[in-house]
Amino acid sequence: MRKKIVAGNWKMNLSFQDAEDLVEHILELLDKETITAEVIVCPPYPYLELATDYAEEGNIGVGAQNLSPFDAGAYTGEVSAAMLVSMGVTHCIIGHSERRKYFNEDDKMLTAKVNQALKHKLTPIFCVGEALPERQAGSHFDVVRSQVRHGLFHLDTDEFHKVVIAYEPVWAIGTGVTATPDQAQEMHAYIRTLITERYGKDVADATLILYGGSCNAANAEEIFAKPGVDGGLIGGASIKAEEFVSICKQA
Ligand code: PEP
Repeated sequence: MRKKIVAGNWKMNLSFQDAEDLVEHILELLDKETITAEVIVCPPYPYLELATDYAEEGNIGVGAQNLSPFDAGAYTGEVSAAMLVSMGVTHCIIGHSERRKYFNEDDKMLTAKVNQALKHKLTPIFCVGEALPERQAGSHFDVVRSQVRHGLFHLDTDEFHKVVIAYEPVWAIGTGVTATPDQAQEMHAYIRTLITERYGKDVADATLILYGGSCNAANAEEIFAKPGVDGGLIGGASIKAEEFVSICKQA
C-alpha cells in the first residue's frame, strides 16, 4: 500500500509574520491529530528556513516551489538544489502550470530541474495537467502523456522511483472547479499505465500520484478515496491552517 502525501503550495502569498503564524498553527493542530499522510509545506523561498526550523520540531517536510536548472555560479536571482538541501528542504515542486505559463518553462527546462533535484537528493513533485481547451478537445490524455514522457522518462528506474507526480488539471487550479473523483481516478490510472509501459508494474504501483486543483476540506475525502489518488497538492486551502489540517486528516 502506498503512503499518502498532502503538500501545501503557498504560492506567492503571506508576509513573514503570517507565514510564521501559519506554520505554527499547522503544527499545533497536527499535534492534536493522528495523521497517517506525510505532510509537506511549500512556502516561498524567503520563508523556507523558518519552515525548516519548525519542521524539525513537528513531523513535516518542507518543499520549495522552484529551483534553478543550474548547479551553481553566476546565475543572478537563482536558487540551487544544493542550497535548498543545505537548509533542510526535502521536496521541490517542478513543472507547476503557473511556471509553465508565466515563466515559459518548457520540457527542456523542466528536465534540467528534475535532474538537479535528483542529483542533490530533493524529491521532485512533478506537476502535469491539461488546460481547459485541451480537455474540451479530448486531447487531455495526449497532453499529460507528453508532459510525463518529456519531463520524466529520461530517468533510469532508480531515479524515477524518487519522483512524486501531481496531476493538476489547469482548469481546476484556483478556480473552485475541481475535477470529479472519477476524472482524477481516470487520469491517475492512465499515468500509471504510462509508467508501467516504461518502467514496469512494480514501479508504477509504487509511484505516488497526487491530485491538485481546488481541493479543499469539503471535497478531499471523496477524491482521496479513489484508489489511484495518493493525496493532494493543495494551493489556496493550504494557507488556512484549519482547512489544511482537515485535508491532511482526510488523506
Ligand atoms: C496548486 O496551485 O497547486 C493548486 C492545486 O491550487 P488550488 O488548490 O488553489 O487550486
